[in-house]
Amino acid sequence: MPTLKELLDTTAAMHRHLCPRQVSGVRMGLYAGELLGLALPQQDKRLFTIAETDGCAADGISVATNCWVGRRTLLVEDYGKVAATFVDTQTGQALRLAPRSSVRHAARPYAPQTASKWEAQLVGYQLMPAEELFDVREVVLRTPIEQIISRPGRKALCAACGEEIMNEREVARDGLILCRSCAGQSYYVRTAEAVEVELPGVALALGEPLHHCGQEEGWR
Ligand SMILES: [Zn+2]
Ligand SMILES: [Zn+2]
Repeated sequence: MPTLKELLDTTAAMHRHLCPRQVSGVRMGLYAGELLGLALPQQDKRLFTIAETDGCAADGISVATNCWVGRRTLLVEDYGKVAATFVDTQTGQALRLAPRSSVRHAARPYAPQTASKWEAQLVGYQLMPAEELFDVREVVLRTPIEQIISRPGRKALCAACGEEIMNEREVARDGLILCRSCAGQSYYVRTAEAVEVELPGVALALGEPLHHCGQEEGWR
């Protein structure tokens, strides 16, 4: 099993810096594995993770657990929170972990010699006992995990747009098989339609600055 240091080296290499959110993500993943009794990083797909943010924390979780979007073992429900639910797909047990509200403050005594709050978090989060870092709650998923994972290899064709739909994401509507987009659940409209309805966000797609986690570049 890799050490915390080795896992943090991996996330830091992916981001060209190490930050408290990566540390939180790695520790959250490791703690979830401990609580669920699963050896991590997993070599199979038994653990499924629902991360409540993208970015640095999510990559920390991925490196610790080996749950990835591309392996279909990680789903991002973007609530903008450094929190995640870890599901043992064999037993159905689901644990939601979130940093305790006191965590920033509590990190300080673990890193008294550090110059800033940020640095205290970076160091403190590596040293604090996991129970002091995270609140843990048993939860029940609104959508059963079997449905989230779906049956691999399933394919359908949308009766409206003709595009292929994988993983049972099709919708049955008035006797037709439709993709979510054609069924009215689309996150986008075509540009011509956007002009018609004067969507405020249309000009936004280009030239948005890449956001980082608020930390200076080059931190090691
Ligand atoms: Zn970061
Ligand atoms: Zn369609």
